[in-house]
Amino acid sequence: MILTVVGCSGTVPGPDAACSCYLLEHAGVRILLDLGTGALGPLQRFADPCAVDAVVLSHPHRDHCADLVPLVYLRDRRGVSGPLPVLAPAGSAERVVGEGRPYTDALKWLDAGPEPFRIGPFTVRTTPVPHSVPAVAVRVSAGDATLTYSGDSGVCAELDDLARGSDVLLCEAAAAVDTPGASRNHLTPAQAAATATRAGAGQLILTHLRPWADPAAALAEARVHSARPVSLAVPGLRVAV
Ligand SMILES: [Zn+2]
Repeated sequence: MILTVVGCSGTVPGPDAACSCYLLEHAGVRILLDLGTGALGPLQRFADPCAVDAVVLSHPHRDHCADLVPLVYLRDRRGVSGPLPVLAPAGSAERVVGEGRPYTDALKWLDAGPEPFRIGPFTVRTTPVPHSVPAVAVRVSAGDATLTYSGDSGVCAELDDLARGSDVLLCEAAAAVDTPGASRNHLTPAQAAATATRAGAGQLILTHLRPWADPAAALAEARVHSARPVSLAVPGLRVAV
């Protein structure tokens, strides 16, 4: 499968990056992991948004879901028929689209649970992870390739287990800069690296740095704690998993 980083910024967009959005493509099928603030714009550089087959939301915070409603507008204006499957933690629909406008015809909400979600060649598994709202980490397999995405998470055995043996761990490091009250809800670069090491992931891609973080310092910190290759997510990064 091919991973394209559409957006990777944490909390708010930065001058050069929208919030979290990752495009996965395999055998002509496209899924998005998150669709955060500002991501629908740059997504159009990499794929026709109306050709996306499903969206997986790690949790209903704006930096992970805000551009889902604009995608609904786009699909409506372009006459795309049929609902778009959206896999998300139970209860996310009301948080994402607001009360009274559930877009029931445009979106097919599916609760992330223990059963795998299958779409085309992709098998998607999720596990609950600690965050300030219900949140999941996501493991996606296609062919013999596997990528695990942390979403937003504190340190936990569930993420270690889900990521076990993945070719790529795409892991947040929003705690690269200290933000009051967020320490248990996010990972530092060192904690992301330790997670990748415990899971035996083939490589670590750090993501979701806040715009006021120092990317070079975050990368250096992670490399100290990782025995595997570490790189930094930037918009437009493409990786053959
Ligand atoms: Zn976030």
